[in-house]
Amino acid sequence: MYGLGVLKGLWVTIKNFTLSYFTRKRLTTVQYPEERITLSEHARTFPILVYDESPDKLRCVACEICAKECPPKCISIVRAQDEAGKPLKQPKFFDIDYSVCMNCGICEEVCPFDSIYMDRQFELSAYERSEEFLYTKDRLAKSAEYFSKIRPETAKKVEEKRKAKEK
Ligand code: SF4
Ligand code: SF4
Repeated sequence: MYGLGVLKGLWVTIKNFTLSYFTRKRLTTVQYPEERITLSEHARTFPILVYDESPDKLRCVACEICAKECPPKCISIVRAQDEAGKPLKQPKFFDIDYSVCMNCGICEEVCPFDSIYMDRQFELSAYERSEEFLYTKDRLAKSAEYFSKIRPETAKKVEEKRKAKEK
């Protein structure tokens, strides 16, 4: 019937509007920032680099796969070297330009070393676009505890996979 979809939509709106006076579950908005909705495990914003023991021991081995696969090319990596100039399995520099990142999560998907994951932090506004959104290695480094707090299910699976690999 012509217009049935519109009527159904209106009915949902009226129902939610009326019932929102009796139950908060019907509210689709919250009084941010005092109130916050619980984000889904899979909500994602920008990438972070995970470390296990200390920030200078990132899981990242500077393989550069994420940088090559990143569509807007906002990841920049320079591999560290020892005194003899031999490449080390760690980044000397690892920068992500958050002002260019399009939050696609491809870097997380392609990383073979469980090193880069999408964060859920979205309150990142700043006055200076070029400097403040260039996230260096130190700013990107987050502990495994932080990761398991924001993404408990994913972190559990990752830990199981890493333990299985060690056996
Ligand atoms: S984050 Fe992962 S894919 Fe990117 S350089 Fe490090 S180990 Fe390689
Ligand atoms: S989320 Fe996408 S755009 Fe952002 S750094 Fe990762 S691959 Fe690049």
